[in-house]
Amino acid sequence: MIDLKDYEFWFITGSQHLYGEEILNMVKEHSEKITKGIADAVSIPVKFVNMPVLTNAGSIINLCNEANKSKKCAGLIFWMHTFSPARMWISGLKLLKKPILHLHTQFNQEIPWENIDMEYMNLNQSAHGGREFGHIVSRMGINRKVLVGYWQEQNLLNKLIIWLRASCAYQDSHGLKIARFGDNMRDVAVTEGDKVEAQIRFGYSVNGYGLGDLVKYTDQITDNEINSLLLQYEEEYQLSPELQKNGERRSSLIEAAKIELGLKHFLEEGGFKGFTTTFENLHGLSQLPGLAVQRLMEAGYGFGAEGDWKTAALVRAMKVMSSGLNGGTSFMEDYTYHLKGKNKMVLGAHMLEVCPSIAAQKPSLEIHPLSIGGKADPVRLVFNAKTGKALNASIVDMGNRFRMIVNEVDVVEPPLELKKLPVARAVWIPKPDLPTAASAWILAGGAHHTGFSQALDSEYLEDFADMLGIEYLLINDKTTLEEFKKELRWNDVFYYLRKQT
Ligand code: MN
Repeated sequence: MIDLKDYEFWFITGSQHLYGEEILNMVKEHSEKITKGIADAVSIPVKFVNMPVLTNAGSIINLCNEANKSKKCAGLIFWMHTFSPARMWISGLKLLKKPILHLHTQFNQEIPWENIDMEYMNLNQSAHGGREFGHIVSRMGINRKVLVGYWQEQNLLNKLIIWLRASCAYQDSHGLKIARFGDNMRDVAVTEGDKVEAQIRFGYSVNGYGLGDLVKYTDQITDNEINSLLLQYEEEYQLSPELQKNGERRSSLIEAAKIELGLKHFLEEGGFKGFTTTFENLHGLSQLPGLAVQRLMEAGYGFGAEGDWKTAALVRAMKVMSSGLNGGTSFMEDYTYHLKGKNKMVLGAHMLEVCPSIAAQKPSLEIHPLSIGGKADPVRLVFNAKTGKALNASIVDMGNRFRMIVNEVDVVEPPLELKKLPVARAVWIPKPDLPTAASAWILAGGAHHTGFSQALDSEYLEDFADMLGIEYLLINDKTTLEEFKKELRWNDVFYYLRKQT
């Protein structure tokens, strides 16, 4: 359900008419070569479109209008091969609503020291042409990513890919629909927020539905559909004996399959790409959807438990960014601490809903009591997360702005086998260490729910936050509480002042 082939990136080269046709033809040729070179070098299935060299305000306005109109265009890459007086960019940039990357590169990597003449100098003017362009974009207060270096360098291309992926998530977020079954968990603060402001800022809409709406779909599921889904379960998971064919609790698995199919049909029919549930509002459903949520998340849906629509949208965005990459992405919750020794750890999990894309081994399909919510025992997948680098991201509503907080972590093996814990889980050591990370997270007002990813590093989230124009706070191995507290105070001033303008 996520196909990055649907997205286009437009490569825009700026110049001016003073250079004459011969130079402009060369600029065009170089621009086409760079576009093709990038398209061939990056391992991402998006499409690159080389646009005609822009030399006046009228053509820039037209192009920016076209970019806004295009559903496929997910972002624009700007390159100033020559000097392009920036006043001609003002009107177009003012209209532009798509993410921008300023590629500050040069067609030739090396200066031909022995042969360089004024002709060469006049063609290869990125060094000052890019500064003129940068000036106007900064003066207009437009967020963008600036990449400096030779366009064939792997390091630069890696950073470009991160931005491309974040831009796809930005495009996906605009028009995204989130379905909420039930409200927020009663009295919880952090999962609440301003849905109207979120729609303005992120472009997604959040609407509530009664469980009765969903039950209508689960009631229509045929035996054939259920049987073929049960076969999939048997192929993909290790079923506990009671859930196997003729097992004592097989009927609970059939019920779980029915919920999965009903939920899937509901989401597909309504064009939803994210959803939330709440164990407090499940009238009409026999068991809390566990397996269904886990599998739909794996298919690419965003999810937030207890009505957490902000995290559902964030998980969806992280799924889009990481589509096709190694490592999974899941809804997550900081559940329990291990506070002994130097490597203090977090055990992350949820009552049920952790995505099997992060599993280290074939998940086991089990049934256990929920111990909260007073419903029938739900079926769920149980596994440990893969070890290695990962991150947690949270978006909270601070009242006058949305804030994203990201913490880089190392996922480790649980020190001992968790024989009695009947849920999927990840054990991690936060960076720089648990006391600093959790203090910073708490001071920043970060949520207990997060989007957890083994596929993304923090730069993806930083690019995404910049495009959205939301606050971004990173907790990693460079974080100290002294500096972090200052950043919080300074940001408060910044956002207070920004509101006044
Ligand atoms: Mn929760």
